[in-house]
Amino acid sequence: MNSLAPHLKAKALKPNSRRPAKELCSECGLCDTYYIHYVKEACAFLNQQIADLEAAAHGKSRDLNQENDLYFGVHQEMMAAKKKQAIPGAQWTGIVSTIACEMLNRGLVEGVVCVQNTAEDRFQPQPILARTTEEILAAKVNKPTLSPNLSVLEEIEKSGMKRLLVIGVGCQIQALRAVEKKLGLEKLYVLGTPCVDNVTRSGLQKFLETTSRSPETVVHYEFMQDFRVHFKHEDGSMEMVPFFGLKTNKLKDVFAPSCMTCFDYVNSLADLVVGYMGAPFGWQWIVVRNDTGKEMLELVKDQLDTQDVMSSGDRKQAVQNSIPAYDKGVTLPMWAAKMMGVVIEKIGPKGLEYARFSIDSHFTRNYLYVKRNYPEKLAAHVPEYAKKIVEQYKLPD
Ligand code: FAD
Ligand code: SF4
Repeated sequence: MNSLAPHLKAKALKPNSRRPAKELCSECGLCDTYYIHYVKEACAFLNQQIADLEAAAHGKSRDLNQENDLYFGVHQEMMAAKKKQAIPGAQWTGIVSTIACEMLNRGLVEGVVCVQNTAEDRFQPQPILARTTEEILAAKVNKPTLSPNLSVLEEIEKSGMKRLLVIGVGCQIQALRAVEKKLGLEKLYVLGTPCVDNVTRSGLQKFLETTSRSPETVVHYEFMQDFRVHFKHEDGSMEMVPFFGLKTNKLKDVFAPSCMTCFDYVNSLADLVVGYMGAPFGWQWIVVRNDTGKEMLELVKDQLDTQDVMSSGDRKQAVQNSIPAYDKGVTLPMWAAKMMGVVIEKIGPKGLEYARFSIDSHFTRNYLYVKRNYPEKLAAHVPEYAKKIVEQYKLPD
């Protein structure tokens, strides 16, 4: 019985107190609730257990001998998609918000965990348990900052809800899956997005100030498949900065340590994942992991244009070259960065090969970071699939 559940006797940590994962904490929100009781087992940074949780969520863990499984996790299907009518102001075309609204409207769920921003700051996350489509739509667009989405978990148990959708990034979903059975739900749906290189609110400020011509007017940004960061400004204008021109020496410590040690870029434990990096430019990328994910996608299929995933180019040399360049904090002059961006966009990896490029570059960088800063964690914290991916490259010491 719930009243006897041990977590009910635990107490959430105070907002600014040190978290069990210390500097590796991604502020996923679990420790803001009495579910902190399970933190040692549940925290993605204290107990990496992706393979076991994959088996529990999808009925099997990924097959390391299948390249698409190795890279993108357990899946039944992948596709490129976009909404026939995009939601204005969504990060991409609003597939995530649309699925959540449909699930609520059709009574599949009673509530949706998602994240709005605070009234004062468009980038300050404000997780909520949404009960209306208006609340879901007000959560559209990325908050490119660490967000304590799981901080609303106590509210769920108190509300008596039995059917729930949670939208979140990998670290939040790992902790969620670990406590899933304790939430007293009849059905949990998990809609994930990929996530990489996230930052604290102050880190975001530094990134914007170092990279954008007008940091105070940025509404949203994305690291795009054309090898440029696209900033959208308040007046609707776009600003493009080539990846290769980023001031890597200044930005080296801007990403949160949790994200520098993360190997769950593709949100392995969600039922359905909606990102962009495995799709042609302008399209979103959908990974259906299991039957629950398929059920969710079917709800909106008639609102989507879809096409098969594609793959072209060869990422390997570009990744190998990026390893020492990042390590030494090399920044190209802007004219050279722009030229390189144009060349790479023309001949470089596209579709799934671009996704593999991004995964390889981040996993090699993060592997080195863990090896140098947390050598005692290397063996257990890096999942087997990530070790296999990293082994393809020559790394500096
Ligand atoms: P929308 O309909 O605009 O909905 C966005 C949803 O995201 C909202 O429901 C909101 O609750 C949720 N959300 C917003 N911010 C956060 C947050 N900080 N934590 C948890 N949930 C949040 N895709 C890639 O393919 N490659 C990447 O490298 C990549 N990096 C990302 C980094 C971050 C920090 C985030 C949040 C997402 C990233 N994505 C990435 C996913 C991608 O940018 C889009 O979010 C996704 O394609 C959905 O777009 P949409 O228009 O359907 O979403
Ligand atoms: Fe707690 Fe989440 Fe931080 Fe881990 S990442 S210490 S579970 S708040």
